[in-house]
Amino acid sequence: MTDVPPDPAPDPTPQDEAPRCSAKGCRDAAVWALRWNNPKIHTPERRKIWLACDAHREHLSVFLDRRGFLRDVVPLAELDGPA
Ligand SMILES: [Zn+2]
Repeated sequence: MTDVPPDPAPDPTPQDEAPRCSAKGCRDAAVWALRWNNPKIHTPERRKIWLACDAHREHLSVFLDRRGFLRDVVPLAELDGPA
């Protein structure tokens, strides 16, 4: 994996487990999905996803936003909804 920025977030949780917050050391259930894109390594339509609990949504959003990566933040339920 070379397309994930350094801390605070590790790789996303595998899909077959209950979604957990991506913040380092946090084991809370995720309720938000942060969709981001690194224009240096991703095509424009590509979306990487970090999951966040309520407490870490802002922290992770700011981390991505500072780097110009953040595209949007949506409720996890919305992301999991029917395509
Ligand atoms: Zn968290």
